Amino acid sequence: MSSLLIFCRACGKQVSSAQTRDGMCLDCQVRRSVAGLREEHARLWRKRERYRTQNANVEQIGRQIARTEDRMAQRIRELVPNEREAVDHLRRELDAARGQRYSIKGV
Ligand SMILES: [Zn+2]
Repeated sequence: MSSLLIFCRACGKQVSSAQTRDGMCLDCQVRRSVAGLREEHARLWRKRERYRTQNANVEQIGRQIARTEDRMAQRIRELVPNEREAVDHLRRELDAARGQRYSIKGV
């Protein structure tokens, strides 16, 4: 079976048409799908760090963060059927969320 190579309309990468949806590669589909959750994750993380410096109870926020990560994982699994690839995507998205945090914190 042959598939066409097309350019992803979001990042410009050349990918197999079999892996694209709405003209976007899998990476960009994942990124877009979890964008909101990633921001939520970064927001909760910053909140927890703030609370921690005040010696407040951060257990509840920790649970919210875990729940957000679960939802991210779930969305990624819907897009990425391969378990190992799904884990890679999740790790990348969580790293990105962390990066967001640091860039905000570092200002
Ligand atoms: Zn792309």
